[in-house]
Amino acid sequence: MPIYEYKCEKCGRQFEELVMNSSQKVTCPDCDSENVEREFSLFASSATGCAPSGGFG
Ligand SMILES: [Zn+2]
Repeated sequence: MPIYEYKCEKCGRQFEELVMNSSQKVTCPDCDSENVEREFSLFASSATGCAPSGGFG
């Protein structure tokens, strides 16, 4: 399920929200402010590329 992490710009509260529609209105659960900023998605972290290259000396 598409869970996004949000951060309220007003009170600084971080929360997760299930977003079904892209035009869904997200408000802060604490102060009901609409001034929230979307953080990184929890499902977007599957990148493997950095090979561990050991360097001695
Ligand atoms: Zn808030």
